Amino acid sequence: MPKIQMSTPLVEIDGDEMTRVLWRMIKDTLLMPYIDLRTEYYDLGLPHRNDTDDAVTLDAARATARLGVAVKCATITPNRQRMEEFPELKQMWKSPNGTLRAFLDGTVFRAPITVPIIKPAVRSWEAPITIARHAYGDVYTGVEYRAEVAGQGFLQFDDGFNMESIDAQKLASPSVWRIMHNTDASIRAFAQSCFNFAAAQKQDLWFSTKDTISKIYDGRFKDIFDEEFGAYRAEFERLGISYFYTLIDDAVARVMRSRGGFIWALKNYDGDVMSDMVSSAFGSLAMMTSVLVSPSGVYEFEAAHGTVTRHYRKYLQGEETSTNPVATIFAWTGALKRRGEIDALPDLVTFAEKLEKATLGTICAGVMTKDLAGLVESDAGVTVKSVNTQAFLDEIATRLG
Ligand code: NAP
Ligand code: MG
Repeated sequence: MPKIQMSTPLVEIDGDEMTRVLWRMIKDTLLMPYIDLRTEYYDLGLPHRNDTDDAVTLDAARATARLGVAVKCATITPNRQRMEEFPELKQMWKSPNGTLRAFLDGTVFRAPITVPIIKPAVRSWEAPITIARHAYGDVYTGVEYRAEVAGQGFLQFDDGFNMESIDAQKLASPSVWRIMHNTDASIRAFAQSCFNFAAAQKQDLWFSTKDTISKIYDGRFKDIFDEEFGAYRAEFERLGISYFYTLIDDAVARVMRSRGGFIWALKNYDGDVMSDMVSSAFGSLAMMTSVLVSPSGVYEFEAAHGTVTRHYRKYLQGEETSTNPVATIFAWTGALKRRGEIDALPDLVTFAEKLEKATLGTICAGVMTKDLAGLVESDAGVTVKSVNTQAFLDEIATRLG
């Protein structure tokens, strides 16, 4: 059988530990036998980031902006403990995802990969809920202050010419304070990414804040979304999808009663909290994809989980591991589909869809990695066979073949 041809390369961003091992296995078992894979390769494994003084991360970001589609393996973000583990590190290098996000100015969408034999904890959910989390500002760039004594607080703003001062609160006892901000530009980029993504997925978009209480701050988010929707209204109507704004507490109640199958856009903190709730309610972190979408339409696909360090330590000791490769497979299929759509290569799109189907079909037939085995419904009517990673990939390859 002739291999499927590509025209434009994908940006391939390699990573660390167990996911780096999965990366190779997935390419060897599921991709290279069928596709004449063309990629521009960037090694973001920690040793190479260190060797290049992290320049490789920015190179990968530039390549992603240039070629439009990237697929990324999970990477280590060094912390103090990792500095001890890797004494050769010149610096506590910044999070590669943070660097990519800052460069591409994107929004992260996280979507669960669902299979019928694993039921979400919320019984009414029939289809995945994708969380779109704004990734800039709010409490994450906030400034906090502890006042040990009674006193008066002010908010001051200096535009270089004038200083404006607003009375905040006069307090008779010790207190805590916080200032946080966001920018019109970042909120606008967030809104555009959400509308673009909803149109691409052909799914409704929900957005929720607390603008009744936070009239200026959250109100600005709501207004910018409303303004931006103007440019998408006709397209949404044509696609039969809708944009729906409601208060965050109302949204939470509605999500719990919904059937799923939509995109839920949230401010930074709300998205942080709700994405963990939604992902655990759908089953497993190993079944969650993540895609960074820039306002200009650049896509970077990855698994939502990390480098699975605990499994890697076992792997290094020669122990058999049953690490779940599904989210990483779906990062590849997401990227191949996007590449195929942009380059008008229907064979590439069809291949990616078939690979997704073969992966889910393998699980539904009862063959899966250890993490999923315990989640299968007892009345699902399948005999569960828990296998190691390579056996799982081989089973997928058989179905794909
Ligand atoms: P993690 O790699 O997501 O793993 C946490 C635990 O979740 C694992 O020990 C495992 O549980 C389970 N798990 C996650 N993915 C799995 C999979 N594919 N198959 C089976 N089980 C899976 O998180 P972490 O251990 O906190 O972080 C490890 C490293 O990853 C850190 O250095 C961090 O910086 C990095 N990280 C990178 C990214 C990224 O690049 N996007 C994201 C998060 C973290 P059991 O051990 O119970 O089996
Ligand atoms: Mg969180």
